[in-house]
Amino acid sequence: MTAKTSSVLKMRATILKINRSNPNLSKIRLAAETIRKGGLVVFPTETVYGIGADAMNASACRKIFKAKKRPSDNPLIVHVSDMEMAEKVAIIPRRYRKAIESIWPSPLTLILKARAGLPRVVTAGLKTVAVRMPSDEIALELIRQSRTPIAAPSANISKKPSSTSGKHAIGYFLKSVDIILDAGNSKFGIESTVLDLGHFTLLRPGAFTMEEISAAFMKKPKLPKEALGLKEAKKALSPGMKYRHYSPDTKLMLYEGDPSRLKSILSPWKGRFAFMGSGETAFLLGKMPVKSIILGSRKEPRTIARNLFSGLIYLDSLKAEFCITESFTEKGYGLAIMNRLRKASSHKHFHTAEELEKCLR
Ligand code: AMP
Ligand code: MG
Repeated sequence: MTAKTSSVLKMRATILKINRSNPNLSKIRLAAETIRKGGLVVFPTETVYGIGADAMNASACRKIFKAKKRPSDNPLIVHVSDMEMAEKVAIIPRRYRKAIESIWPSPLTLILKARAGLPRVVTAGLKTVAVRMPSDEIALELIRQSRTPIAAPSANISKKPSSTSGKHAIGYFLKSVDIILDAGNSKFGIESTVLDLGHFTLLRPGAFTMEEISAAFMKKPKLPKEALGLKEAKKALSPGMKYRHYSPDTKLMLYEGDPSRLKSILSPWKGRFAFMGSGETAFLLGKMPVKSIILGSRKEPRTIARNLFSGLIYLDSLKAEFCITESFTEKGYGLAIMNRLRKASSHKHFHTAEELEKCLR
């Protein structure tokens, strides 16, 4: 065997399937050893899968950027398993400590003042750091066993939809990480909410709702337009805001009008497009789309959120000419859903037949 083939073989990840109801701790231990040795591990969290490395090891963290093709000015979220570990990387403001202790572990990422000693590559040179304590038992056990905070962005190639199953992550990273822990489907299927605690501003809506933040901190966070995904930030409040996100290869357009009018708007395009959205709207369209990707019922935004990324990944396998998706009410999970749909459709949205035609030109 030549040196070249052996190095290619070495880059094939070991896939370890984990049964959630009876997790095999020796597999998690093996993954933790890999983290401690400076390797890359894809692991499940309750939001989406993460691609992780030892947050205190700069060269290990650099491998994440390479595997994801992530711009180096977009910092990573540091995952911790307890408050002591959080204090190692960030300064927790005293006035918020009780609220944070009552919320974590959960899908809420906090932007906090960074401690000295964190590698620059993790914070992209900022004075702040993003920290989260995930509630997923496998993620928590992996961090505990690693005995170090784990820097982990979402397990997807930059700009592509996030992985909500081990299968998605294998598709992206089989040849570029050491271990993939595959525990099936993610519970929320949408990324964590990012809250800048210093300015008490929502930077990214996600699996922890605005309503839950307001209840825990007894005040409402500021909600800038960029967090809604209504426009890309000129000067990014969060570095991630200025990049394209979640883009399927298929051209996606967001319908912002009344679902009952969509059928007549789309009738000239009969048989040429796919539809992704609620069962209720798919029913109104009948057999007109080439294919419908039903994300769930309008009455259950949490289900729509959970199925959104797998819908976007599946969409590309349909090879449709273009795809139409629809809008959801921006409360609860609806806020995160609309942020992702606006970005996934690269802000191509329409209300009328004329506007659709313009989008398609
Ligand atoms: P992901 O790429 O899914 O891990 O998302 C992490 C998000 O948190 C990205 O949009 C980052 O830009 C953002 N982020 C991480 N660290 C910071 C920070 N110190 N200040 C503001 N945003 C941050
Ligand atoms: Mg991401």
